[in-house]
Amino acid sequence: MSIISRHIASLAESQSLAMAQRVAQMRQQGIDVVSMTLGEPDFDTPNHIKQAAQQAIADNYSHYGPVKGLLTLREAIAKTFTIHHSPFTFTSDEIVVSVGAKQAICNAVLSLVDEGDEVIIPTPFWVSYSEMVKIAGGKNVFVRTDAQTDYKLTAQQLQAAITECTKLLILCTPNNPTGSVYTQEELAQIVEVLKQYPNVFVISDEIYSALVYNQPHVSLASFAELTDRLILINGVSKTYAMPGYRIGWMACHNAKIVKACTTLQGQYLTCACMVAQKAAEAALTGPQECVEQMRTTYAQRRMLILSLLDEIPDITYNTPDGAFYVFPDVSRYYGKRFGNRTIQNSDDMADYLLDEAYVACVAGSAYGEDRCIRLSYATSETNIIEALKRIKNALKNLEN
Ligand code: PMP
Repeated sequence: MSIISRHIASLAESQSLAMAQRVAQMRQQGIDVVSMTLGEPDFDTPNHIKQAAQQAIADNYSHYGPVKGLLTLREAIAKTFTIHHSPFTFTSDEIVVSVGAKQAICNAVLSLVDEGDEVIIPTPFWVSYSEMVKIAGGKNVFVRTDAQTDYKLTAQQLQAAITECTKLLILCTPNNPTGSVYTQEELAQIVEVLKQYPNVFVISDEIYSALVYNQPHVSLASFAELTDRLILINGVSKTYAMPGYRIGWMACHNAKIVKACTTLQGQYLTCACMVAQKAAEAALTGPQECVEQMRTTYAQRRMLILSLLDEIPDITYNTPDGAFYVFPDVSRYYGKRFGNRTIQNSDDMADYLLDEAYVACVAGSAYGEDRCIRLSYATSETNIIEALKRIKNALKNLEN
């Protein structure tokens, strides 16, 4: 009998965290590494939110709270749906607050997926989905999307992937790592397919919903057809630059799912940090200018990084419409050499860029797409300019 349980032993380590560790080591050695790996806002949390956290400490928010989250926070969350997705709303009872969107997604996966159930995950995908499915003992069914469809799942692909064992589809819009944003029509086509399969549930991870640039964010919550089959995920990490506060939530019309998630986290969490919940409440109910300011800055950086990528030969990319990532295809450089090192895949490319150009990025293999690397532009314009200059030079130095 092995020490570690089968499900946990099967989990992959996070490649982006491993890369961050390597960057830290190199910096300790005095090497000037530019990191394009950041999966979180580089902004500080706005002051009024920090003050609310301090006030919550002063007001003794030091006790256990309701398992589902503070009512005032859940009411504030419910209101965001009225504002953004009217007339499609959720009540405070239909919301469960967790330690980040990550836990909210994990709660939903664990509540829905039994041993052997199939979960459809379009690739490229955010790394944790597949590992959560493994914890539940489910079977990941990866559906490969590519640049031709802007890395979005098509209705035909979904139809072909559904079997009688399919329990769940996990969709992410705006997407990490591609930045793709599903349009109203694209989602409507997906919903048309789902209408034929009433036993298939959907987790819609919309954590980057506030960060869109060219087109509006359309929530799957705006499709009344899905009603109690949809679990909507969001949180404050990206929108309000509060990843360390660890507050996210799920919203769902299905009382059974809400109850299951509540029971689950009642047993292994009790409740999310009360001080952080008060800060999240202040974020949602306070002035919203900070969100637009950050979004505008990301939008400028996005234009900058895309224009710099345009100057590098043999790199292609799909124009990201949301989040703060670009996912360029660097596969034309595969097979090329630098000294006795040959770049065969995205891991080799990420290693090469780190070792020779001192630029950190995440290999696309981590997200299920080996042709690409992920560059995060949640970093300063100076860093973006320097990183892209270094990448350009490093790629120029590769030989056939
Ligand atoms: N979903 C996606 C697509 C993400 O990129 C992240 C964070 N990297 C999360 C969920 C988790 O967010 P949180 O900080 O709220 O746990």
